[in-house]
Amino acid sequence: MHAETLPPTDVLTAAAEIVGRGGVVVLSGAGLSTESGIPDYRGPGGAYSRNHTPITYQLFRDDPRGRHRYWARSYIGWPMMRNMQPNAGHLSVAALESSKLVSGVITQNVDSLHHKAGSSSVIDLHGRLDTVMCMGCGLRGSRDALHARIAAVNEGWEGAATRINPDGDVDLPDSSVEAFAMVDCAACGGPLKPDVVYFGESVPPARVADSYAMVDGASSLLVLGSSLHVYSGRRFVTHAHKLGLPIVIINQGETKADDLATVRLDAPLGTTLSLLSDLILTDTRKSNA
Ligand SMILES: [Zn+2]
Repeated sequence: MHAETLPPTDVLTAAAEIVGRGGVVVLSGAGLSTESGIPDYRGPGGAYSRNHTPITYQLFRDDPRGRHRYWARSYIGWPMMRNMQPNAGHLSVAALESSKLVSGVITQNVDSLHHKAGSSSVIDLHGRLDTVMCMGCGLRGSRDALHARIAAVNEGWEGAATRINPDGDVDLPDSSVEAFAMVDCAACGGPLKPDVVYFGESVPPARVADSYAMVDGASSLLVLGSSLHVYSGRRFVTHAHKLGLPIVIINQGETKADDLATVRLDAPLGTTLSLLSDLILTDTRKSNA
């Protein structure tokens, strides 16, 4: 770690002053999970720059072959996704929640790493990869249970994964896809889909309302690792701004809401959040002593 990548002390102190007051709602994006090994579509070296086409809702609904290809690839990718671990950034957010400073997390990530880090008040805005749903009857179930069902009908099948993408997809040759067997909903025989909001799909209205309510109850908004290019997340920053809340943005690279930020840190997430939480929690312990 080069010294110049660390955030300036005065900016860090300004962020700590806001977060240390408590009532913080976190809005997190892909940039928070890159240090866990999950690539960011939009970040440097992200999947967009390697011509990976993101999965769409229309693929699941209208393209049985595309859906089959998704599941074959995703079956290979799941054990890797399942084993991904939270990094210093997620752990710092969880520590701030334990200390009653963070009141909730709205995440655009589908990797469940906030949950694994120990955060309990989390809204998964775009769903979770560890849950699957039936497109026929709407029944939800665990991805691990589905994985076991798929494994049972694919004994001896092997696909060679070459790269993992943020949606749990991997690259896989067509011959492996053809030989793969997929299962359907155990209840109604309908097609299955990860319980994730894909491109071309809307976030369920109740989940959006819950997220707005979380921001309504906040004292400040802390944006972590999101370029805020997507309206789905950016609307909560706009909302916080309308409410007059201080907004702290920590992201590597520009964001679409930099002009709304009270404090802006362009620095690595894990290191910066560790420094920030140490600064705040040390101060809190001193003042409680
Ligand atoms: Zn079903």
